[in-house]
Amino acid sequence: MLTVEHLDVFYGHMHAARDVGFEVKRGELVAIIGANGAGKSTIIRAIVGWVSPRAGRIVLNGAEITRRPPWERAEAGIGLVPEGKRLFPALTVEDNLRMGAYLRRGAGLETALDEVYGLFPVLRDRRRQLAKTLSGGEQQMLAIGRALVSRPTLLLVDEVSTGLMPTMVNRVLEVLRRLRDQGITVLLVEQNARAALRVADRGYVLEVGRIVLSGPAADLRQHPAVVAAYLGGAA
Ligand code: ATP
Repeated sequence: MLTVEHLDVFYGHMHAARDVGFEVKRGELVAIIGANGAGKSTIIRAIVGWVSPRAGRIVLNGAEITRRPPWERAEAGIGLVPEGKRLFPALTVEDNLRMGAYLRRGAGLETALDEVYGLFPVLRDRRRQLAKTLSGGEQQMLAIGRALVSRPTLLLVDEVSTGLMPTMVNRVLEVLRRLRDQGITVLLVEQNARAALRVADRGYVLEVGRIVLSGPAADLRQHPAVVAAYLGGAA
């Protein structure tokens, strides 16, 4: 579904993505793990079109999108749960969800809202509440729900674990697995390698802008380099 080839992204002289290549097949949940500053968000920004790569190709469903504007990529089925959630704090939960529906132009919106409320019943209970009054975990659910309202076929999820307590991290990641089971392809970038590799089908390890390892998540969880660097030394 998504192929990234030889991607190079610079911020001025800072070489943030170095010859990055990976693929996400339809129906997979793929995780890219890496430390702070490894370049995970940079890869997401390149896929959604917020940064312009110096070199490389991004192909979605067989069509190159490397230089397409962000809105065309959204229309082509890419949804984003951005780092830091980027909610509208002074809008209600439901209005935040409606903001995710601008591509739908009204058609099917109520059904899409119902689907999100089915996935996250707590959001239905709190639909008239301002987003800023939600807990961190609820805000993360709202950010995922907002991305789902546009019915993406490829969901990009940037650092969903930040600031959440471990039980909530696992709940949110389980939701991503359910979405995968429902047919949405998911690309997750995560500093929390343990949690990400628990739910992912396959993974890639990113270090200083470069992919250094890849494989089935179950294999990466056992890989000595991954265990030593990302899983606290114990498999
Ligand atoms: P984190 O988990 O902390 O978000 P990350 O893996 O997502 O990290 P990126 O945000 O992709 O990392 O950043 C990769 C590198 O590029 C970092 O060294 C960062 O400081 C640098 N960088 C990111 N954005 C910019 C920018 N706008 N201008 C200059 N350097 C940047």
